Amino acid sequence: MKKELQKEFIQILNKPKKVVIIPHKNPDGDALGSTLALNFFLNKTGHQSHVVSPNEYPDFLNWLPGQEGILKHSTETDKAVELIEAADLIFTLDFNSLGRVEMLEPHINASSAKKIMIDHHQEPSDYADIMYSDSNIGSTCEMVYNLISHLDAAQIDQKIATCLYTGIMTDSGSFRFPSTTSKTHHVIAELIDKGANHSEIHQNIYDTFTFDRLRLLGTALTNLKKIEELPVVYITISQEELNKNNFKKGDTEGFVNYGLSLVGISVAVIMIENEQEQIIKMSFRSKGAFSVNDFARTYFNGGGHHNAAGGVSKLSLSETESKFINSISKVKNLLQ
Ligand code: 5GP
Ligand code: MN
Repeated sequence: MKKELQKEFIQILNKPKKVVIIPHKNPDGDALGSTLALNFFLNKTGHQSHVVSPNEYPDFLNWLPGQEGILKHSTETDKAVELIEAADLIFTLDFNSLGRVEMLEPHINASSAKKIMIDHHQEPSDYADIMYSDSNIGSTCEMVYNLISHLDAAQIDQKIATCLYTGIMTDSGSFRFPSTTSKTHHVIAELIDKGANHSEIHQNIYDTFTFDRLRLLGTALTNLKKIEELPVVYITISQEELNKNNFKKGDTEGFVNYGLSLVGISVAVIMIENEQEQIIKMSFRSKGAFSVNDFARTYFNGGGHHNAAGGVSKLSLSETESKFINSISKVKNLLQ
């Protein structure tokens, strides 16, 4: 973190402020971990801070310290909007374009609060007054750790450590993605020293499948297809298949990664039908040089990171499947 930026943060937080912290829609472990950790820190250091999430988050995150205090705009709309209107500062965490918060976007635009972005995705847009954006860092949680440790490291307690550990772990695929550095491991060691219980956190996140969710994984793996001649696999899940397995938000999290566990495969994709929103939600994963960020941006109105990105399609599931096969064939020279 640059010295200049540290100074800007120190200056803007030198008096008590009304703060709202916002993760992206459908927040994941990194988005929730980073917002909750920063929220604890700001409330401990004299500010009045709240987390406002665009919508619900999956059950496997509903044990995180402080999650019970999160205001969900989707169900507590008036309260969430009031907080945004009254805020002096709005932190936006783990995303870099306001489209990622959908219904909250007009409220953030209308607010006179100073906007602060903390994020690690590529190609940030320029809505923020203060921007801590670094796509070389594996998680927003690691960035929030950097910020807090510059401001007042002594405030990192067990709750903050638990939230930060969770997001670093989930965004790094349990410390295996290339974005994991020795610095990441130093931060993790520090968080364990501050009380994060790594074993319990891993179990809370990864070993809490319902029977329905595991059956849905079975369906997903049955639907796995390989594109002939290309190192590419994809999974489709229809709304009917979701319904049959009593789908709940978050149930398909991580399914796309199974494709990459195959030998010789460098791109894995999942396409999930969402009848209510009339979209197909897509997740892209790659190993090595192929940029799924570029691919998702070019063909599926999405983005993310070099090796992990998302996007959407407004076609039917089978049309989306065809469009994907066509699109990936166009860039086959980039695939190893
Ligand atoms: P996931 O596939 O796990 O939903 O997301 C992978 C990465 O891509 C995450 O960093 C996520 O924030 C980003 N991402 C997911 N969906 C979208 C999308 O529709 N647009 C953009 N720009 N990024 C996305
Ligand atoms: Mn993240």
